Amino acid sequence: MSAKIIDGKQVAADIRKELKAEVSALKEKGVVPGLGVILVGADPASQSYVTAKERACENIGIYSDDNRLSAETSQEELLALVDRMNNDPKINGILVQLPLPKHIDEPTVLLAIDPDKDVDGFHPMSVGKMMIGEDTFLPCTPHGIVQLLLRSGVETEGAHVVVVGRSNIVGKPVANMLLQKKEGANATVTLCHTRTKDMAHFTRQADIIIAASGWPNTITADMVKDGVVVIDVGVNRVDDASRERGYRLVGDVDFDAVKEKASLITPVPGGVGPMTITMLLYNTVESAKRANGMA
Ligand code: NAP
Repeated sequence: MSAKIIDGKQVAADIRKELKAEVSALKEKGVVPGLGVILVGADPASQSYVTAKERACENIGIYSDDNRLSAETSQEELLALVDRMNNDPKINGILVQLPLPKHIDEPTVLLAIDPDKDVDGFHPMSVGKMMIGEDTFLPCTPHGIVQLLLRSGVETEGAHVVVVGRSNIVGKPVANMLLQKKEGANATVTLCHTRTKDMAHFTRQADIIIAASGWPNTITADMVKDGVVVIDVGVNRVDDASRERGYRLVGDVDFDAVKEKASLITPVPGGVGPMTITMLLYNTVESAKRANGMA
């Protein structure tokens, strides 16, 4: 069997099209969703993420308030900017690009964001609400994974999902979302990490594997059963002299071998990646609707 590819670019494009229509309908009612973006320092990867987020906002008609601050910005200055955005009615979502420079305490900054504008879903209030199954802003990458499963027709109810990785931004939240007593969830979830003994024992039982370890080939063909659905979250650079830039991007899964056993699989790039920014746009539009009593 060779797996069907889950085309994250297409799913993301479909959602963005829906959001674009929603944004124009909101504009007709005088509501323009706004995203406040804060980048501290000049880390090239962060700069390109922020540029991509701003471009995505522009494409669907979301107003973006772009703030690129020097690496020497103090924590007080950053908190003052967050406070200004918390009180600015044009801003429905606040995005502080992580990581922050070492002299700034990330948890303090995340805690300062108004939970009603926490479109990244990293505020402890949002995390707590997600955990107990209340409506809240869901973190973008895990939410994107759940949407990919849903829109690919994958049944999660009663499925055994094995998540590899327990980070606060991917592994833990996606595991949590899928075990909720809700439609599009209701899975039996196993969470694996570096201290898991004999991880293949668990992955071989999985109906769905979500790989978020940050290492190539964490999941190999001998670790999966026939017909498994594989969501590969990893983005890893491996040397490749045949490419002009000297490297290529791969996921955490041995794609070529695993796709021969899987029923559905996401590629890297073009799988989970395009969904992350899309769900940020989704949360920003949701926030604008909530702020205007339309949700
Ligand atoms: P992270 O914070 O480094 O966490 C990695 C997790 O994987 C840890 O819990 C670690 O276990 C576990 N792990 C590492 N190697 C393992 C192994 N061999 N077996 C079992 N568990 C293992 O990474 P992250 O931020 O969650 O990101 C994971 C990957 O997803 C990265 O490649 C990242 O670039 C990518 N990512 C992609 C997107 C996107 O939009 N496409 C978004 C976010 C992240 P311990 O806790 O025991 O150390």
